[in-house]
Amino acid sequence: MRYLSTRGHPDRRHFCEILLEGLAPDGGLYLPESYPQVDAATLERWRKLPYAELAFEVLSLYIDDIPAADLRALCAKTYTEEIFGTEDIVPLRELEDGVYLEALSNGPTLAFKDMAMQLLGNLFEYELARRGEELNILGATSGDTGSAAEYAMRGKKGVRVFMTSPDGRMSPFQQAQMFSLQDPNIHNLAIEGVFDDCQDIVKAVSNDLEFKRKYKIGTVNSINWARLLAQVVYYFAGYFQATGSNDQKVSFTVPSGNFGNVCAGHVARMMGLPVHQLVVATNENDVLDEFFRTGVYRVRGAADTHETSSPSMDISKASNFERFVFDLLGRDAAKTRTLFEGELGKSGRFDLSADPAFASAATRFGFISSRSTHADRIATIRDTDKRFATLIDTHTADGLKAAREHIAPGVPMIILETALPIKFAASIVEALGHEPDRPERFIGIEALPKRVMRLPKDVEAVKRYISQHCD
Ligand SMILES: *Cc1c(COP(=O)(O)O)cnc(C)c1O
Repeated sequence: MRYLSTRGHPDRRHFCEILLEGLAPDGGLYLPESYPQVDAATLERWRKLPYAELAFEVLSLYIDDIPAADLRALCAKTYTEEIFGTEDIVPLRELEDGVYLEALSNGPTLAFKDMAMQLLGNLFEYELARRGEELNILGATSGDTGSAAEYAMRGKKGVRVFMTSPDGRMSPFQQAQMFSLQDPNIHNLAIEGVFDDCQDIVKAVSNDLEFKRKYKIGTVNSINWARLLAQVVYYFAGYFQATGSNDQKVSFTVPSGNFGNVCAGHVARMMGLPVHQLVVATNENDVLDEFFRTGVYRVRGAADTHETSSPSMDISKASNFERFVFDLLGRDAAKTRTLFEGELGKSGRFDLSADPAFASAATRFGFISSRSTHADRIATIRDTDKRFATLIDTHTADGLKAAREHIAPGVPMIILETALPIKFAASIVEALGHEPDRPERFIGIEALPKRVMRLPKDVEAVKRYISQHCD
């Protein structure tokens, strides 16, 4: 299996060559040359496997440069009851007739990003040891991504994490989650600024190629192919739990921001998993909903990007979307390049409404979408608590609201639960008048000693910190 760029670069790379990378050299995103096909007999065999074995089977189809025994061991080490809270790893729970929640948020940081990031931590450690190299991960976070990365990389050999975050702007729970880590290879940098300032600093450091090379700077952002691949596995696991046989179809609803999660669903469907529809759920930041309704993809400016109560979906553009558009256009790299580099670069938008390919987003690829508002989230959390005695978080609420608009008779609808309510306690208090229950291991974390360095909004200060902590 080799990987190509969505913008047509002639190189073809193996999995481990792109594992530690972000964008392809031409600015495109990596995708496999083709999607391996899973037939009925394979589905039947996979249906009975425990999660770690299923992960090994799926990953094996995409990774041919890690020996099978090693890959199996990496999966077994990652997907354990100890790390993910249950033997099933991603247990499915029926909410009402034919409507299911797939729990993806029982990992160390209580959001679905752990599902991929925990594997990435083990893959990075393995590959860096094999090469005899080190990597310094530099990132910016407003919450979920940074903590998932830190919990995945803590204590890993050959890896350091430098995570910038806007000083004082994360929830107390999120701050406590990150800043209470005492591992020497984890560095929290609280920047005196907003999230965009953190992102600008990361970009500026990464654009200094000499510094980047000297200090082996890398990232773990959502365009990383290995992250996306790890997410493909739980679509299979959800399907097997919701169905009794492989001639049934299911639909998935996915609370979406950067289009990473639902793109993994697209990959699973392209492999032959019997998926009827993929429902893209957005909040008020409805870049994706607008596209699937109208064919127009329009990147938002800062003034047009709303701060909502499902903050992990507050995006101005969807960084993985190019992967789907490439497939939608029949893998036409020249056209993909024109849209994402030419038109988007020039005018911040492109319009596929008159392109026959656009209609196939729904008919051939099963994509459909819905949007929610703060009032919808609060109402959905309240209703779910009252009628089903089940507490959901704001992102999952966006999903449930969208799912209900697309339920088809006889087709199970699986909503991906992307975070636990405790991470977004203020909205739960608003909906229900009381705080959500806290898993035992998080009781009192706000009182733990904090390990964080406050730095000014200054690229040089961040570079200096990194250079002083790299040996
Ligand atoms: C990251 C995140 C999302 C959005 O996922 P994408 O892969 O960016 O579409 C949704 N919900 C939660 C809780 C998240 O942390």
